[in-house]
Amino acid sequence: MTSELIRLGLARATETDVVEVGRGVLPRAGTIIRDALLADGRPAMIVADERTWAAAGKAVHDALVAAGASVVDPLVFPGHPVLYASYDNSEYIRERLRGTGATAVAVGSGTINDLTKLASGELGRRYAVVGTAASMDGYSGFGAPMSVDGVKLTMACPAPAVVIIDLDVAAAAPPTMVASGYGDLAAKIPAGADWILADAVGLDPIDPLAWNLVQSGVAEALARPEALAAGDPDAYAGLVSGLILSGLAMQVYQDTRPASGAEHYFSHLWELRHLGADWDPPLSHGFKVGIGTLAMCAFYERFLERDLAGLDVDAAVASRAPWEAIEADIRSRLSGPLIENGITQTKEKYLNGPALRHRLQTFVDRWPNLRPRLEAQLVPARTLQARLAAAGAPSRPEDIGVTPADVKALFPPAMYYRSRYTVLDLASEAGWFDELVDEVFASGGFYG
Ligand SMILES: [Zn+2]
Repeated sequence: MTSELIRLGLARATETDVVEVGRGVLPRAGTIIRDALLADGRPAMIVADERTWAAAGKAVHDALVAAGASVVDPLVFPGHPVLYASYDNSEYIRERLRGTGATAVAVGSGTINDLTKLASGELGRRYAVVGTAASMDGYSGFGAPMSVDGVKLTMACPAPAVVIIDLDVAAAAPPTMVASGYGDLAAKIPAGADWILADAVGLDPIDPLAWNLVQSGVAEALARPEALAAGDPDAYAGLVSGLILSGLAMQVYQDTRPASGAEHYFSHLWELRHLGADWDPPLSHGFKVGIGTLAMCAFYERFLERDLAGLDVDAAVASRAPWEAIEADIRSRLSGPLIENGITQTKEKYLNGPALRHRLQTFVDRWPNLRPRLEAQLVPARTLQARLAAAGAPSRPEDIGVTPADVKALFPPAMYYRSRYTVLDLASEAGWFDELVDEVFASGGFYG
């Protein structure tokens, strides 16, 4: 099932040619990379840190040599402090690649992959990644989140040509890494619900293949958090495949919509505030996403307690805040460069008058069909919370150093952060947004 999906995904993915996931695949990495990537005669250069060099880098280097590939000296960063995804580090890799004329083989997880992806992209060279942990879904994705002059940007660059993950290596990685991957995969639950809503009104139409790539394995991959926390390599297969398939879905769809919705915006906003950046190891993407995922699942529960089919569309349109009021709200809730960003992004999806009436009426008309799809897609926030905890991931705001009040205050910014349409927008258009947020945090609510 999974390998068939990977095959279908690769057939439409524009940048990745080979995905190899399994137990004990490391010794074959040499021939796989040689055949897929080194036919142009360039030598290979491993990019790793001391930890990932020990975990897999040396084995990949040796496998390349054994396969008759030419290799140059590896670039091995210190293992501690943890390498930071900053543009300087990427430039450093790029210049080593330029000087040696080599094709990069990133051996590591999120940061090493992102740095190498960007460095290779800027040189117009393809590259391979050998993932050492099931920590996020970016292995097979395009673009690299990067800190440039203190601002977090996702810089455009192609996905890797080759992705290899040895499940035994992933299972031996620090337990917080698999817990991070679990958090990033859990996000596909509310993200899928957001996509169902957007699709229903003609925004970001669902592509069946991209949908299946992301969603078909999620429930199963999330079903065994205890086995993951216990380091069972077989349990890793579902999680790793789920993360890889998410990346492929983004390539197929040419957008991150299949793998991310409003839950990711909580994470991005915390990232911009450098939440946990000074922790050791730094607070991961998947940990922040996991808390955002719970917030969104709790919000969806309250949303689905109401009957959208009974919405008074005329009243909702009549009481819709005019754009000037929305803009003033954005200015009061965001700060710095996020204000202009929020205004631009939100204006793209803002409707009022007849256009809003049409959108809301479409939801009302389709609600009998949409509601069961959303219910089938979602998981109760309490259930997901227990699973995140069992996987060793944060399950309460305190676990990532914030309070429930901080989470609550982030709902409006999460709505304003991107033009992507989510349940937060629909709730706002229906006139329910503030009430629903209050319910989530009231006593008896998820955080109450
Ligand atoms: Zn993510």
